[in-house]
Amino acid sequence: MTEKKPLSLYVHIPFCIKKCLYCDFLSFPLKSQTQNIENYVNQLCREIEYKNSQYSGEEYRVISVFFGGGTPSSIDARYIEKILCKLRGVFSFDKDAEITIEVNPGTVDEDKLTTYYKAGINRLSFGLQSACDEELKTLGRIHNYDTFEKNFALARRVGFTNINVDLMSAIPNQTVASWEWNLNQIIRLNPEHISAYSLIVEEGTPFYDMELKLPSEEDERAMYAMTGDKLLTAGYEQYEISNYGKPGFECKHNIVYWKRGDYLGFGISAASLVGNLRISNVTSMEDYLLGQYEDTETKELLSLQEEMGEAMFLGLRMTEGVSEEAFVKRYGITITDQYPGVIEKYVRQGLLERRKGHIFLTKEGMNLANAVMCEFV
Ligand code: SF4
Repeated sequence: MTEKKPLSLYVHIPFCIKKCLYCDFLSFPLKSQTQNIENYVNQLCREIEYKNSQYSGEEYRVISVFFGGGTPSSIDARYIEKILCKLRGVFSFDKDAEITIEVNPGTVDEDKLTTYYKAGINRLSFGLQSACDEELKTLGRIHNYDTFEKNFALARRVGFTNINVDLMSAIPNQTVASWEWNLNQIIRLNPEHISAYSLIVEEGTPFYDMELKLPSEEDERAMYAMTGDKLLTAGYEQYEISNYGKPGFECKHNIVYWKRGDYLGFGISAASLVGNLRISNVTSMEDYLLGQYEDTETKELLSLQEEMGEAMFLGLRMTEGVSEEAFVKRYGITITDQYPGVIEKYVRQGLLERRKGHIFLTKEGMNLANAVMCEFV
């Protein structure tokens, strides 16, 4: 019998209580969609069957599931239970598959968390963003810090032992001192994982048209360096540019993206990668509810060149970097031959390091990651 290949699954729940001012994710205010939620969930279940048969689901074993959004916790927990049940009925799951749901403070209670827990969800990802109420208001979030702390304590009581907290730096009016305070507050709670991204003001969001007092580049760099130092002291390991975990609690699901493993995405705007086939789902709710899942115009077979570019671009995000042996095994050419002179140039500049068969960004390189990674795409 041939061994089953690892697969990750992503489920997009595109509903939120209200839009945050910086958000460019595909999500709709829940109130405007109440009549669509049930249909959406039913279509998700159909899409799960469709993709399983279309992309040889029987050849795979599921190693991770991620419910993202939007705010998956904004809808009734029985919908999440139903989708997960469908996934389990259609695909075969590893016993220790990592199953994550994004939850936003203020959208969960004991019943909801218990339903998730009993359904087999074993990882929560809290979209906190800031421990400072002023900053939360600035971002247009619906919760305050106190609500988060209560929800976090409840999650522990229900039994969750693998919790991520999302934090956001470079928020308007934020100072290095307030960022430090944010970090201290969260370290005190001792979650297993912390993601710390800096705010990017995207075109098309309300923030884009507002006059914002953003921290200087120098302050941003100071915040980034402080994050690494403080979290390291608190027992977290940085394993990716913006992600820190207690040993053994790195997010399996995201590592699949960065290593270009196979994954299937369900729901509007979800992306899939099966070998060198990239599939994007439609972004229109109307089309999706009519059962048109994939955007056939953007379905593409990546060239070997594109695959290698992605492998470098994504692999360098991780602190372990890109394995030279794995690269040659998968793409049939060494990194040095594929990118003559590039690695050497950045090693000379102190931005890349080559050690024990891996190429990775140095501390300085992490600060200038975009410039280095652009060389490969
Ligand atoms: S909760 Fe997340 S997905 Fe929803 S509007 Fe806010 S940032 Fe966007």
